[in-house]
Amino acid sequence: MIKISMPLLDEKEERAVIEVLRSEQLAQGEKVSLFEQKFAQFIGTKYAIATSSGTTALHLALLALGIRKGDEIITTPFSFIASTTSILFTGAKPVFVDIDPNTFNIDTNLIEKRINPKTRAILPVHLFGLPANMEKIIKIAKKYHLFVLEDAAQAHGAKIGNQRVGNFGDLGAFSFYPTKNMTTGEGGMVTTNNEKLADKIKLLRSHGMKMKYHNDVLGFNFRMTEIEAAIGLEQLKKLPTFNNSRINNAEFLNVQLADIYEIVIPFIPKGYTHVFHQYTILVKEGNRDELAGYLGQNGVETAIYYPIPIHRQKFIQKIYPKLHLENVERVANQALSIPVHASVKKEDLEKIISLIKKFFQRRS
Ligand SMILES: *Cc1c(COP(=O)(O)O)cnc(C)c1O
Repeated sequence: MIKISMPLLDEKEERAVIEVLRSEQLAQGEKVSLFEQKFAQFIGTKYAIATSSGTTALHLALLALGIRKGDEIITTPFSFIASTTSILFTGAKPVFVDIDPNTFNIDTNLIEKRINPKTRAILPVHLFGLPANMEKIIKIAKKYHLFVLEDAAQAHGAKIGNQRVGNFGDLGAFSFYPTKNMTTGEGGMVTTNNEKLADKIKLLRSHGMKMKYHNDVLGFNFRMTEIEAAIGLEQLKKLPTFNNSRINNAEFLNVQLADIYEIVIPFIPKGYTHVFHQYTILVKEGNRDELAGYLGQNGVETAIYYPIPIHRQKFIQKIYPKLHLENVERVANQALSIPVHASVKKEDLEKIISLIKKFFQRRS
């Protein structure tokens, strides 16, 4: 079976973990600090703060911005649920804006219409590894004095020009879950150039204390372990190679699948570096589930990200019973992600391509 995702770990991570186990320092310590320093350097921000997950990274980022009940946050309904639940945890209200069906990211032409006096921030997601239109988002945020929090959980290393995502907004949030472009098992990171925000996140991450057992504010335990950070340090060294494999795999698929009428291949805006967390095609004319079944029967695992847009999820639909967002609802019915990760070999890609071609030939 060619899997849809696979963490890539070897003796480097094994050795790093054993070193931590023998050091007797298991909770947040030097490895976490070093990982934060190296990650900030990679993204190009002054600060990076490690957390227990991508979800807690988003949650702490919003709390550091002072987001609370009565506030509204503009975001995309086409994402993993955590980009919205992190808003709900603060008591604020997510305001969903439809997507651009070409990029799958928030349609920046629709944002201004949804801004009102309660709006405090924009939370774009760099979905599947493609940066959202940050130039436009930053421009709108400046005009209306809004914060920007980038959900970069799927986009470690993605760029617009030479600037990496996580370095455009006030804050960026990353995830190191095993399916992502790099992993620590569970884990997350907040990036920022703002010292005050960085300090606030550190405070909230660890029981609201700067000095041990002096608790200044209500805080959490959202810390990363030394074991996770040790894995992260090794993964970060490999990330450029991982991303290059994903990009090369995607390029090959794009060339080979370009002339199949029934599908739409991923679009990359000029000057954008897409790091292909997922390679997601649109299958027109209702054949998506059939194609997924056919590939599955022939040893190719696929996935649907995401079958239900966030505003249609059971507990969120209750808040917005009448909200209809045309593009995201269509795309959710047509999207199919096929294997693109760094372990996918040339012969795997050739097999996938020939199966997709065969599927549509048989139908016509
Ligand atoms: C994975 C993911 C998250 C959450 O990260 P976890 O580490 O699983 O908590 C948030 N947003 C997006 C877009 C993600 O893909």
